Amino acid sequence: MRNWFRRFLRPASLDPDSWLRACAGVPFVSALDATRKARLQALVTRFLHDKTITPIGDLALDDVQRMQLAALCCLPLIEFGEEGLHGWSQLLVYPGAFRVHRAHTDAADAMAEWDGVMQPAHEGYEDLIGEAWEAGPVVLSMEDVLADLAAPRDGCCVAVHEIAHKLDALDGAMDGTPPLPRAWQKEWARDFQQAFDHMGKQVDANRRTKLDPYAAEAPEEFFAVCTEYHFSAPALLREAYPKVAAHLAKFYGASPMA
Ligand SMILES: [Zn+2]
Repeated sequence: MRNWFRRFLRPASLDPDSWLRACAGVPFVSALDATRKARLQALVTRFLHDKTITPIGDLALDDVQRMQLAALCCLPLIEFGEEGLHGWSQLLVYPGAFRVHRAHTDAADAMAEWDGVMQPAHEGYEDLIGEAWEAGPVVLSMEDVLADLAAPRDGCCVAVHEIAHKLDALDGAMDGTPPLPRAWQKEWARDFQQAFDHMGKQVDANRRTKLDPYAAEAPEEFFAVCTEYHFSAPALLREAYPKVAAHLAKFYGASPMA
């Protein structure tokens, strides 16, 4: 019902001055050409209208920072479009790395447990800088978002990592493949699987990998980590896995850091 109603509400346009300031502070955005920047602006407008951005604890976010967070989250949707925003409504932003209890897989349980308070160190807890539940909020650490902005060519961008998980989940399965036309999906699955298997072997043999070995954890992590490289170190991704890099350049559009 709410979504139906929202469709008929036009989101308010962004304050032009704040948007300019927001763009200037996000290297991935300031490097976009005018056409793609305009598409991103429309997505950010939709994002800020549809989603709640909630700072946790003593974190405060001004309008420009909210636009920057929205812009980072919308960056992977410039080609895909606003359907990529479906299925979730909350962005929670922690001041720094946050702690979750791994025994809780249910989003409602985890929310109740966090309650805006950092949990004490305990067995079964894990420190995270970002998380995206299949049907729940996206969670980011502001400290890590700012670190990504300060070093935009280092191969890390936690916001696009979590949005890749959201895109992956759109078809109902977190398996490293977002919704794609059938023929492309087959090629994607083959090429990603090949690269993922290669990386798994490298890690098992204790060899140094070109990409963050975390990508070898699972196919969905491989997709999300490669998404980070696409946006922040595309040359390195191309060198490591050229076919994967080509799929991502088609799916997301050319990397702003190319
Ligand atoms: Zn992940």
